[in-house]
Amino acid sequence: MSRIIIVSNRLPVTIKKSKDKLTFQQSVGGLATGMSSLQKENEFLWVGWPGITVDQINSKEKDDLCKKMNKLGFYQVFLSQTHIEDYYNGFCNKTIWSLFHCFTQYTIYENHLWESYRKVNQIFCHTMLDIIRPDDIIWVHDYHLMLLPSLLRKRMPGLTIGFFLHIPFPPSEIYRLLPWRNEILEGVMGSDLIGFHTYDYVRNFLDSILRLRGYENRLGIVNYQNRIVKVDSFPMGIDFERFYNSSEQSKTKQEIKKINKKVKNYKVIISVDRLDYTKGILERLKAYSTFLEDNPEYWEKVIMILVAVPSRTAVTQYQRLKEQVDEMIGYINGQFGKIGWSPIWYLYRSLPFHELTALYYISDIALVTPLKDGMNLIAKEYIAAKKDALGVLILSEMAGVSNEMGEAIIVNPNNRTQISWALKYALNMEEQEQQKKVLTLQRRLKNYDVKKWADDFKENLIKVKSEQQNLAAKYLSPKNRLRIIKDYQQSSRRLFLIDYDGTLVPYHQKFKQSIPSQEVLDTIQLLSQDYKNKIVIVSGREKYIIEEWFKNVPVDLIAEHGAWLKKDSSNWRTIEPLKKKWKEEIKPILELYSNRTPGSFVQEKEYSLVWHYVNTEATFGRRRALELMDSLTYLTSNLNLEINHGEKAIEIKAAGINIGITSYQWISEREWDFIMAIGDDWSDEQIFSHLPDWAYSIKVGSGISQSKYNIHSYIEVRTLLKELAKKS
Ligand code: UDP
Repeated sequence: MSRIIIVSNRLPVTIKKSKDKLTFQQSVGGLATGMSSLQKENEFLWVGWPGITVDQINSKEKDDLCKKMNKLGFYQVFLSQTHIEDYYNGFCNKTIWSLFHCFTQYTIYENHLWESYRKVNQIFCHTMLDIIRPDDIIWVHDYHLMLLPSLLRKRMPGLTIGFFLHIPFPPSEIYRLLPWRNEILEGVMGSDLIGFHTYDYVRNFLDSILRLRGYENRLGIVNYQNRIVKVDSFPMGIDFERFYNSSEQSKTKQEIKKINKKVKNYKVIISVDRLDYTKGILERLKAYSTFLEDNPEYWEKVIMILVAVPSRTAVTQYQRLKEQVDEMIGYINGQFGKIGWSPIWYLYRSLPFHELTALYYISDIALVTPLKDGMNLIAKEYIAAKKDALGVLILSEMAGVSNEMGEAIIVNPNNRTQISWALKYALNMEEQEQQKKVLTLQRRLKNYDVKKWADDFKENLIKVKSEQQNLAAKYLSPKNRLRIIKDYQQSSRRLFLIDYDGTLVPYHQKFKQSIPSQEVLDTIQLLSQDYKNKIVIVSGREKYIIEEWFKNVPVDLIAEHGAWLKKDSSNWRTIEPLKKKWKEEIKPILELYSNRTPGSFVQEKEYSLVWHYVNTEATFGRRRALELMDSLTYLTSNLNLEINHGEKAIEIKAAGINIGITSYQWISEREWDFIMAIGDDWSDEQIFSHLPDWAYSIKVGSGISQSKYNIHSYIEVRTLLKELAKKS
């Protein structure tokens, strides 16, 4: 069984130094619980920074610590104080954190911070190379280590690597502001599986790799450097049972009793966050102030318990935020407070588990309104801790978690009036309604808890790897290549069906660059000179173009994806009389789309219409294409047409035209003893499906195909054909 190696910036341990002794304690955070569930089936190691810098310990302490921790499966990456300053406080928190949360005004771009980030990712890579084996499963966590997947891939190409981002991935217009955007995208693409909390972040990422690097995807599968990489969403769960059962533990019970005595009959609104500008604490306080102003009947009846956990206190933005929050709380308490009642009870510290869950349990409302949050676990923990199912969650639509918790009252974190209204609504919600919502949410949280999340990610990672291996096994090996050559030499009635664009020549945006080179023509010429060979060039292009290009080569031709064929020097003909009338109805729609989509155009062929968007801005073109596919499917339902979404083009033709059927004209013509079909896209699949089992079908590229073999590129196709031609 493979080992699982988790890599994260921090190891889940806290190290204490008292006198000259170092001790450490394992933390019980959400991620640690999720990861520990993987231990059931796999041996398990965790690599990360232990939280203490090399400047703080001597080499003996370091060795002792390593020995003790290694025994438990923890492997340390030691960093210096300067690394922590420049990589962690610097690039991670002042560049990526702010930019990825769309706070461009707080984002700084400094070369020396980037250099430190690169360096630390390399240090992680080196540490790991001492530990890992080729069959290990590596799971890299979060924005601190976005270069690590490709660094590892370079050193160990066959490794299984998953990457999960715990923060949002921003829209590509924001992401592209990053000077090192390409390096980071390429870094992450070293993975086999890339996970995000929500589909929005998946889409943003796919959008960025398309716009900035030109990598297309199909349903989240990207063909990247002859590997498939899968991008998908895995919303992280919590340790549901731990929170759900907390109110029955004696420590929590005591806390509940203590707090209840203090809060008396007040309705309690809970607000818990790290003190971070993304959490919308100031905006939340302003909304609470609006609520108090608009609803004096709630004075002395409601309190807000505001827990702000100190965070990144070395960063100026966070220091400034702390001052502003203190000031705002002072203002609200001063403005609305009475003798014996303050509207806000403020705790500036991190609470241990039992105190936190006791607070969750006794609160009537949780107000969770981040301005941007990758997921937000507080919302999930609050609902899970409600064993009596009484409580209301008010949740920002900007938190990733809002996608899964539609039963909450969803608000815009900047809309004070709406939040004030939501508070009033929540305070008046019937118990029955509260229970109904909480129970539904709890069921969902239980079904996909942090352990399921971790297992789901691992299973998907293993699946992608095995799909990659299946594809890799289909790549034409030297042995199979020799077999083809031998079969070729021993046969005397040979048929070649060779696709043109993407197979004999690379895809080109410009027509001129697609013209066959002399090398291509010579190869085909040489191959067709052998009287034992019949060569058919297969194309989606119009018949006059393909005819012109191959006018001096004795080959047969198929044009317009099978609508036309030219056999044995006779004239062009169709297989059956085809209808054209439908074109009058469809053409205006395509023209409308090309007017609305700069760079796109309509091509009219005799029996088909094509809307091309190869010259449009990539994302926009794709969106329009999906829209057009949608409307065409609806509009053409009674026209008996076939619509195909091909390479940057949508083709509409009368149903019945099928390149497979057209090619069958040759396949069935005589008793061939050697057939080879080569192609790169959907239409070639139709040919492959019409071939006898023993024929050689070859797909160009790494996509999934029913072909017998895959081959890397058009260059390999040319070499193979040349080699065969020479054997004639
Ligand atoms: N938390 C805690 N003590 C506190 C406040 C919060 O242990 O006093 C924990 C809380 O249980 C939750 C985490 O901190 O698991 C906050 O996670 P979240 O995803 O909401 O925000 P993040 O801090 O990761 O941005």
